[in-house]
Amino acid sequence: MKVCKFGGTSVASAEQIKKVVNIVKSDPSRKIIVVSAPGKRFSDDEKVTDLLIALANEALAENNPEIALENVLVRYRLIAEELGLGPAILEVIEADLRHRLTTNRADVTLFTDTIKAAGEDNNAKLIAAYFNHIGMPAEYACPKEAGLLVNERPERVHAIPEGYAKMEKLKDAKGLVVFPGFFGYTKSGTLRTFNRGGSDITGSLVAAAVGAELYENFTDVDSVFSANPTVVDNPVAIEKMTYREMRELSYAGFSVFHDEALMPAFLKSVPVCIKNTNNPEAPGTMIVQHRDNSKQPVIGIAADNGFSTLFVEKYLMNQEIGFGRHLLRVLEDEEISFEHTPSGIDNMSVIIRNEYLTDEKRFNIIKRIQDELQADEVHFRDTDYSMIVLVGEGMRHTKGLTARAATAIARTDTNIEMINQGSSEVSLVFGIDKKDENKVLRELYKEFFQEASLLV
Ligand code: ASP
Repeated sequence: MKVCKFGGTSVASAEQIKKVVNIVKSDPSRKIIVVSAPGKRFSDDEKVTDLLIALANEALAENNPEIALENVLVRYRLIAEELGLGPAILEVIEADLRHRLTTNRADVTLFTDTIKAAGEDNNAKLIAAYFNHIGMPAEYACPKEAGLLVNERPERVHAIPEGYAKMEKLKDAKGLVVFPGFFGYTKSGTLRTFNRGGSDITGSLVAAAVGAELYENFTDVDSVFSANPTVVDNPVAIEKMTYREMRELSYAGFSVFHDEALMPAFLKSVPVCIKNTNNPEAPGTMIVQHRDNSKQPVIGIAADNGFSTLFVEKYLMNQEIGFGRHLLRVLEDEEISFEHTPSGIDNMSVIIRNEYLTDEKRFNIIKRIQDELQADEVHFRDTDYSMIVLVGEGMRHTKGLTARAATAIARTDTNIEMINQGSSEVSLVFGIDKKDENKVLRELYKEFFQEASLLV
């Protein structure tokens, strides 16, 4: 049995939903269908999830929500009419949205989650209705009844495995199951949404729970590419990669699959295939446990920016027991996670995403490190830092790879400010100034992909 997830663009219009139906029809093992809310139909279009967020904001501001509500309803109306569905499904959707608007608004996040989740929930009902309409028996699965459990507030939303046994029963359904992505329920029955793009996580959770032979993630690109196609011209498609490689590539340009979505599939060894709804014949990218990496040590190059470096120096740091723990404790108290911690004998840098830092947090961190750790030097530097990451399971056996990468970067006249070879040796990270990011990415791509046959 296969679990297929269809992303926002795959279910954005009647035309797209018909493609979904053909894909499901063409393979009887595609039994569980996880769907997003209708996404963009063209580049300036709005996603239903964004329209729902606007609706929640209107309601929270005590404004009349009718216009915002109509903006959402019109999307479903267009789809239902073009699919030839009668008015009943639209009545269900409208009643559902109006009911959600009456829920308690005391907790703004939970209220917004309730409204946001309506996008996938109603789309699942509509798509199930369409399957039935064309004679393919299907049922809508409610995540609460199916057992998709998530943790309670205030922590970030993540699934808790207690619901797995219940979710496994989804595989006993007689016909197709249409499951809404993006949200689950706490044990006490509160709805919570995953972060944006989170329907991928739902798909992976369902695939893991039912022990699917394959989790197919249908999106709008043919495959995962070896570098960001908006920077590198026609990067090669990745046919097969490991879970670990995909995880290491989770920086910008690889956002076709949510970075929290791998774990459930990985833990149950369910292979993942990224495919294109608009070109389902293309083989897509397989994500598996192992691949033969002898011919292709580097599988992809990712880049991302918006990082700051916290630099801390203290004489005899290496002899001070608990220094690193204390420093990271300061970050923990400020609720900040970090990416890398390259260190020297008497100094340590912590690389942090700017989005987690406010001026106040920067100030508190510096003050506490000065006061509590008596650092000789502490400051934030490189506040516009980029990371370029070479990824590949074969890198650990390949001699001279770092030299090749550093030589390629030198050719672009870029200063390398940090090098970090991940302990697993699946990734090699270079910290550089943001202004150099694109030219470095192109040069590394040239080195490892365009001239690969000459150089590996
Ligand atoms: N609809 C949600 C979003 O736009 C979740 C998803 O599509 O995966 O983020």
